[in-house]
Amino acid sequence: MIKIEAIPILQDNYVWVIHNGLSAILVDPGATAPILAWLKNRGMTARAILVTHHHHDHVGGIAGLLDHASIPVYGPTRDAVKSVAVCEGELLDFPDMGLNLKVIETPGHTLDHVCYLVSEEQIDAMHLFCGDTLFSCGCGRLFEGTPAEMHASLTRLAALPGSTQIYCAHEYTLANIAFALEVEPDNPDLIARHSEALSLRRQNRPTLPVSISSERASNPFLRCHEPGPIDAASQHFNTRLNPGADTFAAIRAWKDED
Ligand code: ZN
Ligand code: FE
Repeated sequence: MIKIEAIPILQDNYVWVIHNGLSAILVDPGATAPILAWLKNRGMTARAILVTHHHHDHVGGIAGLLDHASIPVYGPTRDAVKSVAVCEGELLDFPDMGLNLKVIETPGHTLDHVCYLVSEEQIDAMHLFCGDTLFSCGCGRLFEGTPAEMHASLTRLAALPGSTQIYCAHEYTLANIAFALEVEPDNPDLIARHSEALSLRRQNRPTLPVSISSERASNPFLRCHEPGPIDAASQHFNTRLNPGADTFAAIRAWKDED
């Protein structure tokens, strides 16, 4: 049976591990030692590495891991590390684990950013490893892409089935909710997500994964076509914004003021 677990590393990163109790696929290993220790404690071996984008907190542990195991590293073409280049729609097959993952290109945070999707038949629901593109109640900063590119990427992810579970690369949920409440103070789904996230963090548990349907209801960056966020951002910038990419750009700029 396939399981997905988090290894917390650095300040607030999660390395997501997809495993069957024996072999482990590591998503965005930004450090080496905590991952080697985690695998050793459980008697598992690394099977492959998946990279979402080239930032150091996502790739910093790869060289060290490759000193211990000769395993494939899949990642986007502009990746700084030596890896097998992946592209939109490609299926990465791990027949020994009964698993395959589909690549989705999501430019915006970086131009080379990709997400990995495990389809429904393999584990109970769909599972999306979305790196720094989509965060719970937030999204990645636009380091390389345009607001229109990021908005298009997020729109694609938001269109996945509502039961899809998302695995973000950072524990940013509570900080994101603080900002989201500035945009939509009366959104009942956001208020409910806030109490859920507070209680999980009090128990020192990740606020992830979370479902796409929960994000569609509470994440202002996925709600740029709804009157609430459009009106709030229009008021903040004292202009009349259009639904979609226009409102997305404004909400992203508003959050960047903090
Ligand atoms: Zn990043
Ligand atoms: Fe990051």
